[in-house]
Amino acid sequence: MQYEPVIGLEVHLQLATKTKAFCGCSTEFGKRPNSQACPVCLGLPGALPKLNREAFRYAIKVALALDCGIQKLIKFDRKNYYYPDLPKNFQISQYDKPIAYNGSVMIASGGIAKKIRVKRVHLEEDAGKLIHDTPGDYSFVDYNRTGIPLLEIVTEPDLNSPDEAYRYLTNLKSILQYLDVSSCDMEKGTLRCDANISVRPKGVSALGAKVELKNMNSFKNVRDGLEYEVSRQIEAVSAGEKISQETRLWDAEKGVTAPMRSKEEAHDYRYFPEPDLVPFVESGALVDEIKKTIPELPEARMRRFKAEYGLSDYDAGVMISDKLIADYFEACVKSYNKAKTVANWIMGDIMAQLKERDVGIAGLGLPPEGLSGLLKLIDDGTISGKIAKGVLVEMVETKKAAAEIVKEKSLAQVSDSGRIEEMVKAVVEKEAKSVSDYRNGKASAFTFLVGQVMKEAKGKANPAVVNQVLKKMLGA
Ligand SMILES: [Zn+2]
Repeated sequence: MQYEPVIGLEVHLQLATKTKAFCGCSTEFGKRPNSQACPVCLGLPGALPKLNREAFRYAIKVALALDCGIQKLIKFDRKNYYYPDLPKNFQISQYDKPIAYNGSVMIASGGIAKKIRVKRVHLEEDAGKLIHDTPGDYSFVDYNRTGIPLLEIVTEPDLNSPDEAYRYLTNLKSILQYLDVSSCDMEKGTLRCDANISVRPKGVSALGAKVELKNMNSFKNVRDGLEYEVSRQIEAVSAGEKISQETRLWDAEKGVTAPMRSKEEAHDYRYFPEPDLVPFVESGALVDEIKKTIPELPEARMRRFKAEYGLSDYDAGVMISDKLIADYFEACVKSYNKAKTVANWIMGDIMAQLKERDVGIAGLGLPPEGLSGLLKLIDDGTISGKIAKGVLVEMVETKKAAAEIVKEKSLAQVSDSGRIEEMVKAVVEKEAKSVSDYRNGKASAFTFLVGQVMKEAKGKANPAVVNQVLKKMLGA
């Protein structure tokens, strides 16, 4: 029997507000433990939460970008559970009325576009952090993270392979980065992802028992964890076993998932309306205002890059995948109009530099005009493409302009035909055998002679002029 996986994803996104979701405590990362926790964070008697306007705006912005309907009545609920990192014994979240619902994200799957439905987007607060790896028989708790605003984005079970899940996450992250509402860094935990996975015989519409998978802290982890879990379930049901509904943890080191606890149901959390936050009606004016701040999103930008700059699917896809790269590309094209050349340099030498230095495009210190300046020097014959690669590295290291480096290091290529003639003459005299080979019809001898002239010129002779002079001299 053939089985197919059914996967739904829950993404928790930390919103990049300056203060927490329901109090004025700073969200700055890396401060002394418990230095950013007030009575509201700690749930002390009499402390009253207040909704952070910026967090609310960010939530609406994401909802609009994901094509969601937006709730008129904004209401918060208490999700009750007891845990040392949750001093109030409840989390402020949203239960029956999430801020947004019924959205979608498009992905490419097997060469066709597939719509992944977003079931709900809701705003909630983060819990604190327990620190177990300490000496002695103690664990510590840091409440600095308590109350940091999170957006939970939940899909319908529309994903049918680990690869589709990976693509969904990639596209979602790209959209969220364009919106500039979060640093979206899975390694740093500002974007977290849990998955619900079940398998069913192909062609059957009923869902199998689902397993919740947690602890995947990179996109690669998500794909690997899902791949393992899907095969585990298919193997089990094929052998006639029953899948138990539970939460499992992905162990990236061992490459396996292991049971953590049996899955709780919604009623275990005894949700009820948060009495300290009065429900309110969003008039629509704010939504209209936020609509105007939504930038061109990745999919639209990709279409435009193809139409406006003639980029291929692949090139446009790479250019738009990171908003800052896309901005950089467009800024370069403004001062140097060969879009394909710019894209090639970004995908090649520039991305190699980003990888080597482990920085984003903004951290490279190479302004768009810098790259355009370099490309113009290739076009006007001042330097060869090969020399330009070295100049680029130098530009990144010294922050100097291309022309300055070329001048300082005397890298300009020799185009003066008089000087090139001298070099060609010397080579022709020295390589008599290759000259006669060429004259006897051996074409490759010509390439060899060009190479010898370039060697003589230390790579700085203009190849077009060398070709021309050599041909003339050999013909004579
Ligand atoms: Zn606080």
